[in-house]
Amino acid sequence: KVDKELMELDKKHFIHPTSSIAQQQANGPSFIFTEGKGIYLTDITGKQVIDGMSSLWNVNIGHGREELAQVAQEQMSKLAFSSCFGTISNEPAIRLASKLASIAPGDLNAVFFTSGGSESNDTAFKLARHYWVLKGQPNRQKIISRTQSYHGVAMGATSATGLKPFRDFTNSIIPDFYHVDGTSSEALREAIEQEGPETIAAFITEPVQGAGGVNIAPEGYLQEVRKICDEYGILMIVDEVITGFGRTGTMFGVNHYGVVPDMMCFAKGVSSGYAQLGGVLFSEKIFDDLKELSKGTLLHGYTYSGHPTACSVALKNIEIIERENLVENAKLMGEELLKGFKYLQSNHRIVGDVRALGLIGGIEIVKDKLTGESFETPLSPKLAEEAAKRGLIIRTVTFDQDTLVFAPPLVINKAEIERMIDILDETMIAVERELF
Ligand code: PLP
Repeated sequence: KVDKELMELDKKHFIHPTSSIAQQQANGPSFIFTEGKGIYLTDITGKQVIDGMSSLWNVNIGHGREELAQVAQEQMSKLAFSSCFGTISNEPAIRLASKLASIAPGDLNAVFFTSGGSESNDTAFKLARHYWVLKGQPNRQKIISRTQSYHGVAMGATSATGLKPFRDFTNSIIPDFYHVDGTSSEALREAIEQEGPETIAAFITEPVQGAGGVNIAPEGYLQEVRKICDEYGILMIVDEVITGFGRTGTMFGVNHYGVVPDMMCFAKGVSSGYAQLGGVLFSEKIFDDLKELSKGTLLHGYTYSGHPTACSVALKNIEIIERENLVENAKLMGEELLKGFKYLQSNHRIVGDVRALGLIGGIEIVKDKLTGESFETPLSPKLAEEAAKRGLIIRTVTFDQDTLVFAPPLVINKAEIERMIDILDETMIAVERELF
């Protein structure tokens, strides 16, 4: 029952984000989803699959929540949109800003709203640079980030992204963006010394790198980074776009490390994808300086900064995360997920390192786990394709590695985790049989 008309229209008119255009042209879409409920998605042919990635690491409260549809409907009927430029405001944006301040760590108490993660990171870079202009140190322009990082696709966010293929895509980055090895804080210190601390505006890091292959920050790394940033007077930005709102088993990723950054970028889980929303939280100290030093207009703002419908959806989403203890569930189910990964590791020669923090996890695929040798061509895409046929959607990371990545909705239960692991087990048995 494949809908031929939709397949053809898709191929003819729809340029898919982060897609292989050639493959898309040859095959058309692999799924045309029409419905979602909890951890499940159903496509136009009636096939049901587990959404092992919360779509794009974002549908934290799961699919098909009537409450969110209702709140959006109510807000749209009352006031779908009005701008927040200048002195104009609206209640959902005010209430959400206040709610975020109350759940964010430390003194991260003031929010600038955007429509997504890339805009949030670009906002952080621009306002970090603006901050130094106001402070009379306009030479502090450089932004440092980590080599395996992913920060989005706006020009600043792409330039900060450490994964090289994203930058090679345009064969350019904006000047004043630098990347350091992210496995030790010493690399950051060396880069600061080499570039000159007085030229550096900010350092940005994810607590757990998602698109880079689910790399959990090394023990003590974020605490060291905080110290180094303080020592050299550099702003510390944390990109919580994936890790925020319960994903790692704490409300924010930095909660694991007891660190408070100067700016914290968020998106995705703030609204679980039910509306497009993101933002940057600023520490009281930075906000106070901005208030004191700003003279003219803050020349930065998106049409949709503080979108009332998106903000009311986010408020309800956070209410659900708290009411249903989804942060705690992510922690407990994350332990089950890791147990399952370890089972796969002990039963399959192609499973190398496995890792998870809450409900974000990765499985490294190797040719032989005893030697750690990799396949010449990454095998994870084939595994993901075979898992999808068996009813589980996951993603792969193949830049300099061969990793399956996971981020199921935070509502997942033990039986559903076991089902995911069973599907992976069956998939690996089948693929290994073909290979060896
Ligand atoms: N930062 C991180 C850590 C991300 O994973 C992403 C997207 O996956 C982004 C930023 C970009 O967010 P968006 O795609 O909403 O622009």
